[in-house]
Amino acid sequence: MALKDIIGQENALNILKGCISKNRIPHALFFAGDEGIGKRLTAINFAKALNCRKPAGDDLFSFTEEESADSSGISEIDACDKCPSCTKIEKANHPDVFIIVPEGDGKQITVAAVRELEESLSYKPYEGEWKIAIIDNADRLNPSAANAFLQTLEEPASQSVLILVSSRPDTLLPTIRSRCQRINFSPLPVETMSRLLEEKFGQTGRGQAGLLTLLSGGRLGYALNENLIAQRDRSFNIFRQMLGSLEEDVWDNRDAMEEWFDWGQLLLRDIAVYKATGKTDFLINKDRADEIISVSEGAALKDILKLARELYNIKRKLNFNLNKQITLNYTNLLLKKMLGKGSR
Ligand SMILES: [Zn+2]
Repeated sequence: MALKDIIGQENALNILKGCISKNRIPHALFFAGDEGIGKRLTAINFAKALNCRKPAGDDLFSFTEEESADSSGISEIDACDKCPSCTKIEKANHPDVFIIVPEGDGKQITVAAVRELEESLSYKPYEGEWKIAIIDNADRLNPSAANAFLQTLEEPASQSVLILVSSRPDTLLPTIRSRCQRINFSPLPVETMSRLLEEKFGQTGRGQAGLLTLLSGGRLGYALNENLIAQRDRSFNIFRQMLGSLEEDVWDNRDAMEEWFDWGQLLLRDIAVYKATGKTDFLINKDRADEIISVSEGAALKDILKLARELYNIKRKLNFNLNKQITLNYTNLLLKKMLGKGSR
């Protein structure tokens, strides 16, 4: 794929293409926006466009009339997705493009990874024109890695571009954020997203496309994740178990915990909406209406909202490595207290 295949992020793409067309590539970029919205994909394809070796006058770049009328010329900026450089980046084996992701039990980016990156960036590009480092989930830089990274930002290697990617931009050190040019990625409008999903899931009909759109909140990458509905069902089942008798260890790891808190919020949103309106028309999880009605009947609106706020606060604190068992016990207690025992 290439930049032209990224859907619904025109604003971000125009800024990036503008940088290439003016030949003013920032040393550090910060891609901020929700999970599953296309930030990493854009970073990879921006790297392709920067290092693409398409021959001049390549007919891949013949334009439609509308495009050639664009006086800025940025519509023509893209990767060819065919040359050796583009192919290597696609396969993640280009010697000048580095992708750093959180590793290990704590899912962190360590100081060792940052030092290694710094070393790699200190050499001239081997093949391409640019060395590009994509730091995915940059909010997972641990404190010492973040400090080491600050130095990399302050003394950028020539012909290098750092792209930090994060769905939790506020948790990144302000000193890091301020040294990067921020590019915001926004969710797709519901109508656009529905149309795209219907094209993709045409055979499964409107119902599922509509549900996926609502569930994913305009995040296309997230909606295309086929496990989305299964993931929701798992989280809802845990929610139900918590209201009953919870015996199992329900979260495998921190990611599973975070996932559950997101889905818990969504379920509470529906429970509150039903409680307030008495109608199922406005539910996101319409297919789980029975369950939503049953929980909402056993609880007061103010308690449902209070619980939603509590869960939101706990989710935010997960970044500080809360103990899993204590978090589970506490959450379990909250749910029972706020939603009442008879609400199963
Ligand atoms: Zn190319």
